[in-house]
Amino acid sequence: MIINVKADIKQIFKQGKKFKWQRPVKCKHCGESRLWGHGFVLSFFDGFGQGLYLKRYRCPYCHTVFKLKPSGFFYRFQADIKTIFTSILSRIYKSRYLPQLSWSRQHFWFTALKRNITAYLSNTWNRGLAKGFIELVRINKIPVTGSI
Ligand SMILES: [Zn+2]
Repeated sequence: MIINVKADIKQIFKQGKKFKWQRPVKCKHCGESRLWGHGFVLSFFDGFGQGLYLKRYRCPYCHTVFKLKPSGFFYRFQADIKTIFTSILSRIYKSRYLPQLSWSRQHFWFTALKRNITAYLSNTWNRGLAKGFIELVRINKIPVTGSI
């Protein structure tokens, strides 16, 4: 299970395993209040050449494992949400993608967004792609995922 926490990704990078994570107050699955540290998992994010160590906790009662993740990222996405949204806006209003990110990745996000809008908001959605992105986030869908 992933838990989004407010954490400065630059500090996580700088401090590595010494970074002070906010320990979850209780198990989100069973309510047990003594979670145990359960090592780290190496994850990759845009803008960082090396992997970052994300802290894991484990519930001694129901054995659920929790991975803490800095908020502002979609699950399994390496670019932060703000960057992805900026790329979409650039494509809509300037007809080009951001120069600092790979064209193919941004094109993947853009085409996935159109497909997800049709799939979840219907093919009669007429409020535009940017509003579609926001609406998908609101209903807890990842707007740019390729797997639906
Ligand atoms: Zn538990």
